[in-house]
Amino acid sequence: MKSVVFENFGKIEVVNIEEPRPKEGFSIVRVIEATLNPIDIFTIMGKRDVKPIPHIPGVEIYGEVIEGTHKGKRVIVYPRLFCGNCEHCFSEREMLCTGEIFGVSTNGGFCEFCLVPEKNIFQIDSDISQELASSLPVGALTAYHALKNVNLGSRVAVIGATGNTGMFSVQIAKLKGAEVFAFSRRKADWLKELGADELIPFEQISRFKGYFDVVVDPLGEKTFEHSIKLLKKGGRFITFGVLTGRTVSFDIFELYSKELSILGATGGSRKEMIELISIARKLKVKVWRKFKLEEIHKAIESMNTKDGKIGIVM
Ligand SMILES: [Zn+2]
Repeated sequence: MKSVVFENFGKIEVVNIEEPRPKEGFSIVRVIEATLNPIDIFTIMGKRDVKPIPHIPGVEIYGEVIEGTHKGKRVIVYPRLFCGNCEHCFSEREMLCTGEIFGVSTNGGFCEFCLVPEKNIFQIDSDISQELASSLPVGALTAYHALKNVNLGSRVAVIGATGNTGMFSVQIAKLKGAEVFAFSRRKADWLKELGADELIPFEQISRFKGYFDVVVDPLGEKTFEHSIKLLKKGGRFITFGVLTGRTVSFDIFELYSKELSILGATGGSRKEMIELISIARKLKVKVWRKFKLEEIHKAIESMNTKDGKIGIVM
């Protein structure tokens, strides 16, 4: 089968390798579409604990089970690896269990067929588009987990709104009844169709000091200082990414005197995956471009200029 593989970090190739063999507790999924996410770039560059080497990257996938329990069904893969038998798993927080991720700590889905733990497989109705389905397990689930407790009527700022998690953060916040301000570097009118009430160029961020109940910022170091100032008293800052770096400094006095909260969110639980699938028909995805597996280098090169999601199709 065709597969993206790397042996040395940063040096991916598309090669022919043997197809995976059936294994107890696992299904074989024929990948139909995978989404290229920042986590895949971190994996390829060796910025995460990658196993095995040589490695097949690809965290977020949609496909059809050809061998295993859901044979013949269209499915998506919950990417968090978990034991099912610890305090985190019992309290519906599987994402905190091993901390490991399909496609990072195991081979992933930038290939024609992949081996997936059966407990990570979720069936998807065939009327959900493959573009959306292949954006649910990472982009949408992360946003859903981070924002499902947003209150009706609150004012939410989404920083980096055109990103894979950003576009779903806009939609989830809107579904929760929030007023949504989408901040991004490039003008992206399509965010209005996804539910953004206002589109704000990032350069104007300082106009909105003390204005928001919730600020979602997965960009990390470069935007943190500005983002935290957007919060009004009692506001919540939510992060689930470090795209521009991971070290920041901030004023502790600001934090306690305004009773701000800084919340970390990662992935989501299996229960949230089910909740998300149940509202999937209300969600949209903005596809920027699709690339064939053989064009993976081109796809990666365009990560910095993309305007919407990048799909990898087999
Ligand atoms: Zn566990």
